[in-house]
Amino acid sequence: MRKKIIAANWKMNQTVADTESFLTDFRLEVEDVSGVDIVIAPPFTSLAKISELLGGSQKIRTAAQNMYYEASGAYTGEISAQMLRELYVKYVILGHSERRQIFGETDALINKKVIAAIESELKPILCVGETLAEREADRENEVLETQLRGSLAGVTAEQLAEIVIAYEPVWAIGTGKTASTQQAQDCHLHVRKVLAELSDAETADKVRIQYGGSVKPANAAELLAQPDIDGALVGGASLDPRGFAEIVKAGVTA
Ligand code: PEP
Repeated sequence: MRKKIIAANWKMNQTVADTESFLTDFRLEVEDVSGVDIVIAPPFTSLAKISELLGGSQKIRTAAQNMYYEASGAYTGEISAQMLRELYVKYVILGHSERRQIFGETDALINKKVIAAIESELKPILCVGETLAEREADRENEVLETQLRGSLAGVTAEQLAEIVIAYEPVWAIGTGKTASTQQAQDCHLHVRKVLAELSDAETADKVRIQYGGSVKPANAAELLAQPDIDGALVGGASLDPRGFAEIVKAGVTA
């Protein structure tokens, strides 16, 4: 039985003051919640504040939204895995479609980041997903396979079991369009099949695969009830503490 993992991706939103007020409200909302992993990925500037406020709590974990693969050096504007570990960060989102599309990240670069994260004991949340044009050309399975094989090159079965995959159809991100539960389940099953080819069936069965793309309180339970949907990566709807808490609770009951 895979424990569900519900993650908030705040993107370039929320100041340190906003973060503090969100956490005050959100912690009250999830006070009695257990049996689900809760992760918040704020901007880098709020990571230290979250660590300070959570004070080693195991209930809510933090994620970074990106990192660079080198340990240190002349890489202006970048952040290393070690720097994140110092702030008690546990997960790191890698290969988000906004990073791929706006910042030109390739599978080869993402692969270097995945390896560096694992070596620093950060758990990658690796994002994969097809564009609208690719779906309309019935190429989603091929695109997912290419992204998974490229981004996970050199990852052992033991390491793979610790990675979270986020299936995020690009056409559903921030658009209000959600993949139907059947479309999402079909892609999750395909992702698991590719993971089995990259390792073995037992390992693939352990990997948690989140769905992302306009997840909200109204559609979370139905998506999370699908056999291969093990969580959600939530953008817009994660900025509201009550709404995000509702999605988290759907992860417990699903
Ligand atoms: C995301 O950015 O990962 C995402 C899924 O965004 P949204 O929920 O806003 O579609």
